[in-house]
Amino acid sequence: MSLYSIIDRYREVDFAGFFAGVTDEMVERSLARDTLSASDLLVLLSPKAGEGRYLEAMARKAQRLTVQHFGRTIQLFIPLYISNYCANQCAYCGFNRRNPIHRQVLSLAEIETEARAIAATGMQHVLMLTGESQAHTPMDYLTRAAEILKRHFASVAIEIFPMDTADYRRLQGVGVDGMTLFQETYDEEVYARVHLAGRKTDYHYRLTAPERGAAAGFRMINIGALLGLAEPRREVFFTALHGRYLEDTFPDTEVSFSLPRFNEAEGHFRPDFQVDDRAFVQFLTALRLFSPRAGITISTRETAGFRDRLLALGATRYSAGSSTGVGGYALGRIAENRQFEIADGRSVTEVAAMIIAHGYQPVFKDWDSIQ
Ligand code: SF4
Repeated sequence: MSLYSIIDRYREVDFAGFFAGVTDEMVERSLARDTLSASDLLVLLSPKAGEGRYLEAMARKAQRLTVQHFGRTIQLFIPLYISNYCANQCAYCGFNRRNPIHRQVLSLAEIETEARAIAATGMQHVLMLTGESQAHTPMDYLTRAAEILKRHFASVAIEIFPMDTADYRRLQGVGVDGMTLFQETYDEEVYARVHLAGRKTDYHYRLTAPERGAAAGFRMINIGALLGLAEPRREVFFTALHGRYLEDTFPDTEVSFSLPRFNEAEGHFRPDFQVDDRAFVQFLTALRLFSPRAGITISTRETAGFRDRLLALGATRYSAGSSTGVGGYALGRIAENRQFEIADGRSVTEVAAMIIAHGYQPVFKDWDSIQ
């Protein structure tokens, strides 16, 4: 069964009605299970399960499962934006083609300079990002950029436009080992409303990109929805189903989740939904209970204090020392070209020290290709 048909099965479901009918017994039963069904997950995403005593029980179980599967470790990575040109018009994004920001694409020499500066911090996992513009960042450029990064880092992942399997395979062939691609929203109507122009208007092509990346041989696939665009409990539900679909279809692939909450960007977009810290914790722990082996990534969109508290609740990957602008490290070009505002501006060293202070081990390198 395709991912789309799985999602489509829930089209007529009255989520609000289901959540309103969740009882204490249902929450206790779902919490006690070792393996959660889709309906257990829905129960744990309900407002009832977000009540104090249940949230505490979910947090304790999430912590136990995370330590069981990952140990007391947090893997660190850093994003590197190499271009902010974009041919799309996403209403919520600072790189939207209509926004009058300064556009740039790093030369290969500049990428090398940025890579050297990042590698000097000890970071060994890098995430290469672009806006979505095939004209400004064509495949030849992307493969050469990846080759450069591969000389400096143990792991190079990408967060760029969705592509065909053959192109993912090309990138995998030069050492790219993972990809992040957010569906943004699984709600097709909202998707059409916030993606106003460009190739990204194709909901299906984006939805199926992570499985094309897995088929191409990436060892790690990170997915998520931009929380705030559509009703968040449903979004986390579909994100989790997407993750389970990938785990079932590609058992050798590591699946991870991100929970990006809307953050201010150029363009003054205001999302329809807010996700407060309490709901965020419920979503994170529900994902952990549903997918005990999945990584969970916490980005610098979240504040330092909140990131510290999430350490013990199921998170496994943190970005650190991040700049969300093009050329934001050695080149120092951070003004006016950021994709979104970061809330935790601590350096790599500071984040690593915080992780150690909480009794966890920061991991700079857990992967090396032996081709
Ligand atoms: S979210 Fe991605 S595709 Fe959309 S405008 Fe921003 S960079 Fe472009």
